[in-house]
Amino acid sequence: MNELTIKQVRVKSILTKSNLPVSDFSVNPYVGCPHACKYCYASFMKRFTNHAEDWGAFVDVKFWDDIKNPQKFAGKSIFMSSVTDPYNPQEETFKRTRAFLENFRGVDVHLSIQTKSDLVLRDADLICKFPNVRVGFSINTLDENFQADMDNAASISRRINAMKTLHERGVVTTCFISPIFPAITDVKAIIAAVKDFCNLIWLENLNLRGNFKPTILAYVREKYPQHFPLYEAIYQRGDMSYWRELADELKVYVEGLGLDYRVNDDSQKKSADSPPTVVNFFHHNQIRKSAVKL
Ligand code: SF4
Repeated sequence: MNELTIKQVRVKSILTKSNLPVSDFSVNPYVGCPHACKYCYASFMKRFTNHAEDWGAFVDVKFWDDIKNPQKFAGKSIFMSSVTDPYNPQEETFKRTRAFLENFRGVDVHLSIQTKSDLVLRDADLICKFPNVRVGFSINTLDENFQADMDNAASISRRINAMKTLHERGVVTTCFISPIFPAITDVKAIIAAVKDFCNLIWLENLNLRGNFKPTILAYVREKYPQHFPLYEAIYQRGDMSYWRELADELKVYVEGLGLDYRVNDDSQKKSADSPPTVVNFFHHNQIRKSAVKL
């Protein structure tokens, strides 16, 4: 891995109005993300920065003044984070995500935290003080080798343990199975592994856009040559039949487990003691792409 370039930057405000369908505001305490996922859709951010480094090789650490009256955001939904991981390893040192949580401590916002790190457990006490909070973990494999090939984030077992710990502490948790790699991600096995520790399971297909398409295709060709024809069919010829068949199969599987299965429904309000609802967001990507605002 390349050396990480770390810069500290001053910003006027940390809350950005979002037109993501699931939130009113985004909070990105960092620019860049050392988790460096090979499929990171946020890597387009590089274009808006002065960084020449590869995605994952730089982080700008943001500093801002506390919001004086966070109560005025009560009832609003806030998403952490849309273009970084709020618990990337720099958070251990700089505690910028924690600073935001301290500022909003106890405010009745709809707070949604999304991460690939168990560093979130450091802030469990603080998170539990939010009356309306959800913590999501992104998991798209149970194969630690594949995970290590794809990102520099925490191992899958650490993510699942963190999910379990928060679940046991009464926090609503989500498992975001994304991106699903055709024929590589075993979605059923992931559902089976996490269903007792989360309240929502979101499914999203791999959508190869941007600069990372050649990287991912080259990886699959080298490591999973048996699946490469399938990737060519989907990503070179636009054949969507794999996703339709997988969706049908998963619906049967999920309902066989006695769980609720939905399509493109992000309105689910779950309590921490409810069994997970599985929501299929296949082909939802265009909405999400157009909704990301810097
Ligand atoms: S953790 Fe998220 S923001 Fe960070 S590199 Fe991975 S996909 Fe991108």
